[in-house]
Amino acid sequence: SGKSCFYHCKNKRRKMKLNTRIAPSPTGDMHIGTARTAYFNWLAARSSGGTFLLRIDDTDLNRSDPACTQVIFDTMDWLGLDYDAFRYQSKNTSSYLHYANLACEDGKATIGDGGAIIMNPVNMPPSWKDEIAGTIPISQDDINIINQGLVLIKSDGSPTYHFASVIDDILCAINFVIRGVDHITNTSRQIAIYHAMTPIMDKWLKPRGISCKPPLYAHIGLIHKDKKKLSKRDGAASMLWYRDSGYDPDAMLNFMARMGWGPRVDDKTANLLPKERMLELFLTGGQMRNVSSNMDTVKLDWYNRKYKAKKIKQ
Ligand code: GLU
Repeated sequence: SGKSCFYHCKNKRRKMKLNTRIAPSPTGDMHIGTARTAYFNWLAARSSGGTFLLRIDDTDLNRSDPACTQVIFDTMDWLGLDYDAFRYQSKNTSSYLHYANLACEDGKATIGDGGAIIMNPVNMPPSWKDEIAGTIPISQDDINIINQGLVLIKSDGSPTYHFASVIDDILCAINFVIRGVDHITNTSRQIAIYHAMTPIMDKWLKPRGISCKPPLYAHIGLIHKDKKKLSKRDGAASMLWYRDSGYDPDAMLNFMARMGWGPRVDDKTANLLPKERMLELFLTGGQMRNVSSNMDTVKLDWYNRKYKAKKIKQ
């Protein structure tokens, strides 16, 4: 089984304000995996006094669809996940270009064929630490890819996903990233970009009290349906389908909390965990997990009945 972590263990309670974000790409309906990642990041920020950012990762304008962005807003709204800041990556293109140009001036990147901006090799640490899985070695394959030159800005002037994501995380002072284990393979590349950019960004950010270093990463297990990947095109997996079918948003939050997170004391009384209770438990009274969860719709319906009955009584 997967390992879990974390804040409460070894009596080392991190008293850190966690600045988190949810960064969906508006290329399909918002599904339960993204909604759960949003909830976990929201819980981490809200229970530690940090900030929670909603970022729309829409640099790929051909694949980004405003209707999908609307679904993201509506889903956040339905679940009551409020955010302190909001940005569209597509409105930030000149900023990515600005920092990539500074990297060129600083000898950290080179202008290549067709005007693309390509990162020069950097010295990489042998590993990085995931908050759930622990030490993750950086493979020779990853080092080769990094040394061959990561593209920061494509020849059409648009940023790559890795570069835009890292620059935004730095500018927004993100220090904790919870996302699916499918992003583990991206992490070494993103750490490489941090290494190249730190001296450049620090010059601008230090005076504003922001320091540039990789965030803590926690990669959580994916949600599957009967051992198969949840498809974004699966109608039943679109969050608004649940809203429009009359599901209770608090039942949905409770259901999501029990996939990829578990309370320290996991008995029958730990099933009903409304948002207020989750705010108390999330960081110090339980653990995130990196094993897959099964989307058990019978369980969801059970939560739905419980929450609806509770609300009728009130
Ligand atoms: N935009 C990415 C996605 O939708 C998320 C990036 C991240 O969480 O680092 O998968």
